Formats: sequence, structure tokens, C-alpha cells
Amino acid sequence: MEKDIKTVLAECGFSFKKKFGQNFITDKNLLLSIVDKADIQKDDTVIEIGCGAGTLTRALSAAAKKVIAFEIDTSLKPVLEQTLSGCDNTEVIFNDFLKVDLPGFEKQAGQYKVVANLPYYVTTPLILKLIEQSKQCKSITVMVQEEVAERLCAKADTPEYGAITAVIALRAYGEIVKRVPRTMFMPRPNVDSAVVKLTVKDGAISVSDPALYKKTVHAAFSARRKTLVNNIINCFSVSRADAESALTACGIDIKARGETLTPRQFAALSEHLKNFV
Ligand code: SAM
Repeated sequence: MEKDIKTVLAECGFSFKKKFGQNFITDKNLLLSIVDKADIQKDDTVIEIGCGAGTLTRALSAAAKKVIAFEIDTSLKPVLEQTLSGCDNTEVIFNDFLKVDLPGFEKQAGQYKVVANLPYYVTTPLILKLIEQSKQCKSITVMVQEEVAERLCAKADTPEYGAITAVIALRAYGEIVKRVPRTMFMPRPNVDSAVVKLTVKDGAISVSDPALYKKTVHAAFSARRKTLVNNIINCFSVSRADAESALTACGIDIKARGETLTPRQFAALSEHLKNFV
């Protein structure tokens, strides 16, 4: 592509839409670094969520076998026709990724890696959709607000640790692989960002009932000031004796607070709670 991205956007009469979280990246080194951190290889299929003006898409196209990019904003069509010209291994689907039938899509796509610079307002639902519904996703490398990145990768018993961390941990190992200052985006947002890589590792923590695991995690974090046993009593409508016996059977102190439990402990606890629900 000959023209710079600002010129293409201006020529196409494109205006940035806050409601879609449109903060684009254009810096070549940053784009290449994201592709590198996502470990994109020549035989990979990549799903990009929210391709914007196609700058990251182009970098992914050069590194991967195939790129399938989703974009909610159809006004980017004329922009992408220019910026992705010659990217023959790349397909753009104009759809809200949250509305995509993932199991149906995966029958066609096979195994893939996800790479995205995500808008804030859909970060959590998009990641949860992939973590909970996907059977073919190998990794999720996403740029998110720095504060969200800390939460996604937090260790137990830290202020950043929350229900989302423990739910993700059931299927993926998370790490922050790059910090990105706000100055790298167009237009510039009010916060810094970070790239998080979630590597899917099925079977590392095994639970017989993922929905019960999620319910246990949400119960534990439902009132941070209360002890775990009280949150379990409230959310599962079990007796104090049963809640305490489930904790004791898992080697968890009956005075413990939910946020001190590791994902493995949540898994063990959810298996014991099965006897009472
Ligand atoms: N990937 C581009 C980049 O890095 O420059 C654009 C990133 S921008 C932060 C997020 C993009 O996601 C926007 O183009 C926005 O229109 C798109 N988007 C927002 N919500 C979406 C959704 N639910 N499904 C698909 N795309 C979405």
C-alpha cells in the first residue's frame, strides 16, 4: 500500500466512532511486535477481531497462512479495500463478533490463533466467549487497557485478582507480553494499554462441571468483605455445616476469603459443592 493510513481515511471520508472503541495503531514496529508476541507462523490461521483500518491485519497477513478479520463498522469497507489490496490470504467479515455462532464458524475455520486490539467495551465478553465456547482456539493475544491486562493475568490474593481471572485460568495461562503507551494510538485514548497473551491449555485444571466452577468463583467474589463460607451459604443456599465441610474437605481454612483461593482450589471446591446442589 503506497498511501499512508491518514490519507486513506481522509479520502474515504471516514470519521472515528467512539461507540466502537476506534483507536487505531499505525506504528510498523508495534504492529510487527504484536505479530511476534502472538507467535504467528506461516501455517497459522489467524482470527482478528475488529480490524479497523487494516494495519494489524496487513501485518498478520504477511506472517500467517490465512487471516479472517471481523469488523462491526461497515463504513470501513472502502478503507479496507485499499489497505488490504493484495492480501489474498485475508477475508473480512463485517459482523459483530459477539453475534458470531462460534461452534458453527469453527467447523469451517479449524484451529486458529486470535489477535486483536480490542475496544474496551467488549473486552470481557469477547474473551469470555472465546474461553467458554471455543474448541479450536490455541491462543488469544489482545491489546487491552493496562488495568484490564493486570486483572486478566493476576495471581490469587492480589487486589487485581477477580472472578474473570479465575474463570480464564480454567482454560488458559495469561501473561502480559508488552506495555503500550497511549501515544501509540490514533486518536489518543486517556489510558495506557498492554498486550496480553492467553495460551489455551486444556486439561491443566480439570473440572467435571465448568458451569458449577464459574458459579463457585462468582459466589466467592460476590461480596469481597465477607468470608468465603458466608458467600457460599448465600449463593448456594446450603447450610453452614455443609459449606464448612466442603471447605475443610479441600484443605481450605473456614475463615478464608474467596480472593485468596487459587483456580485449582476453586476447582476442588466446586467438585465438593456438587454433593450439596
Ligand atoms: N485493529 C485495528 C488497529 O489495531 O488499528 C483497530 C482497533 S480498534 C481499537 C477496535 C476495532 O474493533 C474498531 O475498528 C471497531 O469498529 C471494531 N469493533 C468494535 N466492536 C466490535 C465487535 N463487537 N465486533 C467486531 N469488531 C468490533
